[in-house]
This record gives sequence, C-alpha cells and structure tokens, in this order.
Amino acid sequence: MSEAADFQKYHQPWPCKFCGRPASYVPLNMSTSGGVSVDIYFCHNCRAEYMLSFRKDGETISTSLYTEVNGETYRWTASFGFYQFQHIKHPGTPGLVKNEGISQIKGLFFNGNKGDIIPDITPENINEKLRTYLLFS
Ligand SMILES: [Zn+2]
Repeated sequence: MSEAADFQKYHQPWPCKFCGRPASYVPLNMSTSGGVSVDIYFCHNCRAEYMLSFRKDGETISTSLYTEVNGETYRWTASFGFYQFQHIKHPGTPGLVKNEGISQIKGLFFNGNKGDIIPDITPENINEKLRTYLLFS
C-alpha cells in the first residue's frame, strides 16, 4: 500500500503543499461532487482544501484556497487542468457545514495535471490576485 493510501486509510494529517504543516482530515466535502468517493483535508493555516480520491490511492483531485475580499468569501480551485474562481455566498465550516450559494466568476484552463497547485496562486498573494480578477471580471 502506498504512503498516500496509508494517509487515506487512517486519516493521518496530509502535508499541506503550501506551508508543509499537517492539514487535518475533515469528514465533509465542502463542495458538491455527487457520488465520488473522496476525502477532504483542510489546512487552517493556509485555508487550503485538498480533495483526495480514496479509490485512486490518494490521488489529489483538487486543491482549493479560500480567502476574503471586502468581507466576501472567495475560492480558487485547481482540478484536472482547469481552475475556477468562485464566490461563496454562505461559507461553510471545514468538516462541519457545507458551502452554500457558490457561483462561478471565472474558469480557465491551464497547462497542468490534475490536482496541481493553483498556478501562481499562494496563500500570500491570493488576495492581490483576486482583487485584480474582480476588477476585470
Ligand atoms: Zn498550509
């Protein structure tokens, strides 16, 4: 069994791609992905959410970053060579309450593999990038 699958099986903390600290297993998919067997990990330090496939040996399905701009909650998600910039009207709580009222602001293809880190977006620059996108969207 691979190391990733071990993480999945025992819900060990998943190392955050951004800060390297352990992201906790949260037993709730914040998004809506019907019927897919996934496990969600959340790094509270970075507000990064990782969706991992249990069936495929802990393969990363998506990486998301949450932030607030002008009191509103937004999310960047990178998944399968596509990334999305979304507004969340009623943000949930990791592991407890689902996000509600998610609307798409922008979707873009990028040259990457599934689950890749969001291109050029980090917890440090996400607010600046979002402000730019909001200005021109
Ligand atoms: Zn982190």
